[in-house]
Amino acid sequence: MPKRKKLRVKGIVQGVGFRPFVYRLARSLRLKGFVRNTTNGVEIEVEGSAAGIDRFIESMLDSKPPAARIDKIRIDTAPNKAYREFSIKESTTSTGFTQISPDIATCNDCLKEMNDPHDRRYKFPFINCTNCGPRYSIIIKTPYDRARTSMHEFKMCVDCEKEFQEISDRRFHAQPDCCLVCGPTYSLHTISGEKVETDKPILRTVESLKRGDIVAIKGVGGFHIACDALNRDAVTRLRRLKHRPTKPFAIMANKHDLHRITYINADEKKVIESPIAPIMLLRKRGKTICEEVAPNNPYLGVMIPYAPIHHLLLAEMPYLVMTSANIQDEPIVKNAEEVERKLSRLVSLYLDHNRNIENRCDDSVGYHLNNRGFSIIRRSRGYVPIPIDLPIAVKPTLAVGPYLKNTFTLANSEEAYVSPHIGDLDNLETLQFYDEMVTKYKRWFGIDPQLIIHDLHPDYLSTKIAQTMPGQKIGIQHHIAHFVSCLGENATLTNTIGIIFDGTGYGLDGKIWGGEFFIGSITDQKRVAHLQYLPLPGGESSIRKPYRIAIAYAHKLLHEDMHLTTDSETKIIKTMIDENRNLVYTSSIGRLFDCISAMLHVTREITYEAEAAINLEYIAAHGVTTHYPYRIHESEPMTVEIEDTLAAIVKDTRSGISNKRISAKFHNTLAVLSLDVAKRLRQRYGIKRVCFSGGVFQNRYLLNLMIRYFLADGFEVSTHRRLPNNDGCISYGQTIAGNTKEISGRNK
Ligand code: ZN
Ligand code: ZN
Ligand code: FE
Repeated sequence: MPKRKKLRVKGIVQGVGFRPFVYRLARSLRLKGFVRNTTNGVEIEVEGSAAGIDRFIESMLDSKPPAARIDKIRIDTAPNKAYREFSIKESTTSTGFTQISPDIATCNDCLKEMNDPHDRRYKFPFINCTNCGPRYSIIIKTPYDRARTSMHEFKMCVDCEKEFQEISDRRFHAQPDCCLVCGPTYSLHTISGEKVETDKPILRTVESLKRGDIVAIKGVGGFHIACDALNRDAVTRLRRLKHRPTKPFAIMANKHDLHRITYINADEKKVIESPIAPIMLLRKRGKTICEEVAPNNPYLGVMIPYAPIHHLLLAEMPYLVMTSANIQDEPIVKNAEEVERKLSRLVSLYLDHNRNIENRCDDSVGYHLNNRGFSIIRRSRGYVPIPIDLPIAVKPTLAVGPYLKNTFTLANSEEAYVSPHIGDLDNLETLQFYDEMVTKYKRWFGIDPQLIIHDLHPDYLSTKIAQTMPGQKIGIQHHIAHFVSCLGENATLTNTIGIIFDGTGYGLDGKIWGGEFFIGSITDQKRVAHLQYLPLPGGESSIRKPYRIAIAYAHKLLHEDMHLTTDSETKIIKTMIDENRNLVYTSSIGRLFDCISAMLHVTREITYEAEAAINLEYIAAHGVTTHYPYRIHESEPMTVEIEDTLAAIVKDTRSGISNKRISAKFHNTLAVLSLDVAKRLRQRYGIKRVCFSGGVFQNRYLLNLMIRYFLADGFEVSTHRRLPNNDGCISYGQTIAGNTKEISGRNK
């Protein structure tokens, strides 16, 4: 007796070769029925023997295409329909949109062809198939097909057309399919725009790089600036020209070389070789890569080639610096015009191609967190625009996000479309990019927002932008957005203790928050403890000068002079504090890191965000178990007081204890005091679950430590999994918190 089952599959299942895979699988098991794309996934009906259907479901989960990801699968039994065959049906797109797949790293089958002198795509830098290639970066309109991508300018040749139509071919319905005859081409240009006459632009680029030149190279989501990662002079020159003295550069290396330059483990290997192919922070090994790439840094940011062009380049040169082509905090450069206008000081040549990048997209960045998988620092290429589930159904919403590391979120029902990393909203170019992406997202996903959710900071540009938009406006406090974001991602609906350690966020009392303990859920949050308020001299301008924070905190709490600058500057800062003039008060843990980093003479001034904290993390000794004293003041909210902590640190520095050890003890102190506060909250409120969010948790030393301490004490620990700890998670949290606030407001 044949059976019929109806399967609804959600996840990354469109534009990744999922339908042909299902088709072939069903046929091989002699099942009848159909598969088709729907507005939010793939629908399958299979009819046949019960054993065949079981095998089908099992194999679908086990041997799905490499770039596919199944998040949810709903299986219903249905009465027999006596299908005659198995077919691929037309998409149902009437009710809205189909998904857009992220860009996918070149697959092994394509690589094999590209390296085969007898293949018609030998050394073809745009090779792709149903399992790999550009997607998000080339899309103009939905639904996703060739005519609506920047491939529409290239007419398929007869051979490609044949592959495209043939269901058994691995390029069946591969929209960007092309070849040497019909596809895009690379060309090399001087920075003044003259074309370099050569029929081997890629090899000419390699020659230049080998000579030590800095070259811009067009890739998938934008241009990279490249130079030889083994050439100290070239890297130093790039640093000077880019005004970037210390911030690490990412490099690209072939996967079989990774073990030479890093201590990569099996888990890390799996992520870096996945279709997402992010930049991973891996522990540095040896001195092959010159120190100037990531000075004083125990990690290297490494990616492997993810586009055919990268494989062709890396076949000639094993290690390249590949940093996003932009100036300062502007968006990544995406075409020749922008290269010539903006990078003229930086590069002499650029390797261009004639397929438009419709949507800029930076490389994603992250690291492997023990037992918890990939921890994202920047979520862009390979991830966007895959929706992230929401724990509740929301109204059509635009959450405009924060000021730094901005992402926005467009959401409806139970799906949140978190934008790629946009950057810091402090320059015209980034604002234009922001506007462009908001407009595109609305169009692609057919969402016309009724709710506009913004930060409470009155001066943030994102807040001001929100005010100009039609719709109901709701403000959400920055750290509540962090807290709710982490809860939402983990689909946690129960009461939780939220520990938010962050740099900066405008507090409900007008002070700058950033060392916060909340209790509550996605609907309702209460701030129950925080780091004591301490004075920032001259307000947020002192963020770039951690030594000033150290002077201020030491003077305020210990009446000590730290001798970190001239007597006259010290005096000015002390007077500001004594007279309570020109100060901003903050509970930020980020600023506390700055303070300690400066006190130890590890970092005096910073050249990029969080540099002082990062330096302090990197010197921390492993295996130190002691910590410094602190006090908890049982008020409402509780405050964590660190006078004793600072006093003990100053004492340690004066008695010759090493910075490595002091840093470790300081990290331990934060973990111990967090656990102490949480245990008090657990006792008072009976809450056993805790979640961590905020930029400070990019510190893997601290995050690992805290996860260990809390688990050992019987807490359940939730951490971010699909969004970063930093402000990249804010717009998603705003979406949830704004909607629950809107609901509770309406009910009152
Ligand atoms: Zn492929
Ligand atoms: Zn062709
Ligand atoms: Fe934040």
